[in-house]
Amino acid sequence: MIEAPSRVLVVTAHPDDLDFGAGGTIAKLRAAGTHIAYCICTDGHQGGEDSSISRDEMRKVRKAEQIAAGKILGVEDVVFLGFDDGNLFPTLELRKAIVAQIRRVQPEVLITQSPERNWERIFASHPDHMAAGEAAIQAIYPDARNQFAFPELLAKGLEPWVVSEAWVMAHPSPNNFIDVTDFIDKKIFALKAHISQTTQIPDLEERINGWGSMVAERAGLSEGRLAEAFFVAVTN
Ligand SMILES: [Zn+2]
Repeated sequence: MIEAPSRVLVVTAHPDDLDFGAGGTIAKLRAAGTHIAYCICTDGHQGGEDSSISRDEMRKVRKAEQIAAGKILGVEDVVFLGFDDGNLFPTLELRKAIVAQIRRVQPEVLITQSPERNWERIFASHPDHMAAGEAAIQAIYPDARNQFAFPELLAKGLEPWVVSEAWVMAHPSPNNFIDVTDFIDKKIFALKAHISQTTQIPDLEERINGWGSMVAERAGLSEGRLAEAFFVAVTN
């Protein structure tokens, strides 16, 4: 286990992404006293398989589900940027919105999605995920630390901030593994709070356990352990 950072910001494209990719790690860090904030880039309106729910309703449902899932993991600071689901690009506008969150939260570590495609799991490389990851990395460097980037943010009192490390989920070549065996129940509980997304996965627990055990095996942990994987990059 990497030493628990004091403050972490998690930036993902959709509600539920961070619970799938890092739910166990988030629960473990909270137990170690880390302050954690979420920044969800899109409104999630393209999610789920139930066509009887209007897309306007789905926006509200997904917000409420992410807030409920955050409470389960002990995270109350949840910000929704409200970009259009399925239409996310690493634009200057997205970068600026993420820079504002970095400067507000002042995290030591930023957890985000991989801007690089992971060919092992096509779901991990949704274009919105890659866009969120790319914009988050661009926000870490150069913008968040540069007083001359987005001067209107500085005018609002959002001072430059240097993020020390990026922890990238679903990266094709992870270099750090976190043992989350003791927190897997919390992860599954949080995932179940995304009712509109996970009720259609009847074998959710088996899938999460199977995935965790595959990652643990890759990490060389003993049998029966479960892990989550990250590519950790030093960014200071
Ligand atoms: Zn997603």
